[in-house]
Amino acid sequence: MGPASGGTLEVSRPWSRVVLKMSGEALASSASDETLDAAVVRRMASEIVDAVGELGVQVAIVVGGGNIWRGTVGAGEGMDRATSDTMGMLATVINALALQDAIERAGLPTRVLTAIQMAQVAEPYIRRRAIRHLEKGRVVILAAGMGSPYFTTDTPAALRAAEIEAEVLLKGTHSGVDGVYSADPKVHPEADRFSEITFGEVLVRDLRVMDLTAITFCKDNKLPILVFDLMTPGNIRHALAGREIGTLIT
Ligand code: UDP
Repeated sequence: MGPASGGTLEVSRPWSRVVLKMSGEALASSASDETLDAAVVRRMASEIVDAVGELGVQVAIVVGGGNIWRGTVGAGEGMDRATSDTMGMLATVINALALQDAIERAGLPTRVLTAIQMAQVAEPYIRRRAIRHLEKGRVVILAAGMGSPYFTTDTPAALRAAEIEAEVLLKGTHSGVDGVYSADPKVHPEADRFSEITFGEVLVRDLRVMDLTAITFCKDNKLPILVFDLMTPGNIRHALAGREIGTLIT
């Protein structure tokens, strides 16, 4: 079965609980300047719902906000960095609500938990509550990063994965790069993709697959990361099912 096909999932490495990191930019339209592409959000939501339905995998999503705002952009224009980062964290809440809507329409209950309190919109992030929602079969969407500036959402994705005792951090990329390569494949087309690699090698070779803070956190806490291409239809389902796609960092 090819990665983009439907049908029953073959499982090679079944996960029971995962954190899925979805970059905000993955949700944007490639064809227009829309910050959120409803068709893309729907497609990703239905893959998540399919995998949860078929495999019972517990899924907590950490969503980014780069399609709307990145703290470094404002800071580069002279804004106060903490203010600009707070705008970025609020951007992730917009994406979380879009995902919530799409996942619920596709048939699964969800809860959005935010690291910045906004009681009228979502629940506050409380570790034990997040675990309880997962145990009840709800998809948990974690928004507003860590609630602190000077981070990107890669680091709260790693932190939350450790906190809720997820087995793996599934890091979906949107840049067209489908794993970890021996060199930047856009500059060096001859570069090889690793199916597995150690954290030590990623650090020594300075392979920038995600933020260094997140990588060192995962290394210290023995939390594997699967790097895969979020944009290829079928890949979210296959990553959630534990199929051998992308690169596993251990
Ligand atoms: N952000 C932050 N603290 C966090 C997580 C995110 O300050 O714990 C801000 C930061 O400015 C970041 C923005 O939120 O640029 C959006 O997140 P990110 O860049 O990770 O989005 P993605 O690249 O995943 O779309």
